[in-house]
Amino acid sequence: MNRAHLSAVATLVAIFMSFLSSCTPVSKEKSRPIQEIIISEMRMEDTDEKEVTEPEPLIPPSLRTTVRVGILDEENDILFSFSGFYSIHSRGRQIFSRKRSLGIWRVTAQGSAIVLDNTTTGERFTTEDDVVFRPLYDDSFATVGRAVSGQNTGWENTRSRSYRGNIEFISISGRITVVNDVDIEDYVYGVVPSEMPSGAPMEALKAQAILARTNVFSKVGAKFRNKPYSLSSDVYSQVYTGIDHRNDRTDLATDLTKGLILTYDGRPAEALFHSTCGGHTEGNDVIWGSSRLPYLQPKPCCSPEKITAQNIGDLSREADFRRWIDSRPDSYCNLDNKNVSSHLDFARKFYRWEVRHRRRDLERIIRSTTGTDIGEIKDIIVTGRGTSGKAKAVRVEGSKRSITINRELNIRRQLSRPPLYSGNFYVQKLNMDNRGYAETFVFKGAGFGHGTGMCQVGAAGKASMGKNFREIIEFYFPGTKIMTVGEM
Ligand SMILES: [Zn+2]
Repeated sequence: MNRAHLSAVATLVAIFMSFLSSCTPVSKEKSRPIQEIIISEMRMEDTDEKEVTEPEPLIPPSLRTTVRVGILDEENDILFSFSGFYSIHSRGRQIFSRKRSLGIWRVTAQGSAIVLDNTTTGERFTTEDDVVFRPLYDDSFATVGRAVSGQNTGWENTRSRSYRGNIEFISISGRITVVNDVDIEDYVYGVVPSEMPSGAPMEALKAQAILARTNVFSKVGAKFRNKPYSLSSDVYSQVYTGIDHRNDRTDLATDLTKGLILTYDGRPAEALFHSTCGGHTEGNDVIWGSSRLPYLQPKPCCSPEKITAQNIGDLSREADFRRWIDSRPDSYCNLDNKNVSSHLDFARKFYRWEVRHRRRDLERIIRSTTGTDIGEIKDIIVTGRGTSGKAKAVRVEGSKRSITINRELNIRRQLSRPPLYSGNFYVQKLNMDNRGYAETFVFKGAGFGHGTGMCQVGAAGKASMGKNFREIIEFYFPGTKIMTVGEM
């Protein structure tokens, strides 16, 4: 979503909010720059186990209608308001049957008690263990933000978001966790514009909506077992921003795929996605050390005819890989000659990229990211690559000692700050001194993200070539079946 769209949406939301309630604060969070969108990656859990055991759904998919999303975790001081009418409950009992909010509530923990102070009216009430706000009408919403110390009453500089569905404040060890228990389709409305620019082609947005919905069913019960929620609202699950970034196009993509999820063997699939594969996707086994799932096989991100033309070779071999990185193959995610919306322009720079570090700086970075002082860097050698060329292991040779970094995400995080866009890179040494040490290290790479599952920019590229969401999903998840939740 670009700034123009975001501001248009923000204006509409602001009008909508003020229409509903003059005392409801409008979210003060700034729109995210477009560069930050399509950067999150739906990831699996790292595992050393040889078998991936798919999580057992707690209840059958067809019976699940809502999902519990963690909004804030173990906070001391929260600001809250709601628009419209809500009933209020605690410990399973109703304490207000119909309440309309005036002003902003400050929510704090005192032992196991939760204290709500209305900073506008002076009203106060206290509950034990939890307090749940349930909207009485569909168009009601609640706004929640972390209070900023020294600012007791205003939303200024407070990162707040607005949500449909129930809002729960739960006291855990003297701190408060906030959960949004929300209808699954409302959740998907809030994920799609957070994970893909709204200007992306409609068929790509529809594919993204199906993946977002699938992740409710494949991830519930798999993570956060010690938390009162099933998914987080950040990149550790998939980004969910409530109603703040909703817009007509991503809402339409959600509506047109209502109830559809990706399945394999009759069960919800691992609906992984990433920004840009760089021309070749990767198997989940290379990224997470788990066994490879049948529908997450590495493959060129292009049509079969292009595969022969590109003469890819074996990307796990250094010579072939370097030749591949130094070229710009005509893949679905190469936007060079594609007629896609300018909303995707920012993604062009991820197709092929270069990150340079002076050796001295890199020594400092690696010391801080690994906690090891290796001395002066002599060399950085990728010692293992996956099918797409993703680095699986890197040896950093230093004057004091050498270290090996394993796993794609560790490698990306430990070799650069900010982390490298992907594990698809080779290292070039420049300006050798008379001792044989390079003055500069250059990481030459391709793509953004782990490269497993759906390549989002590739999905947009395919859609721009006339492919529909079913063809996009069949390409990136071969052998899976799109089913409606009701069928399961
Ligand atoms: Zn791709």
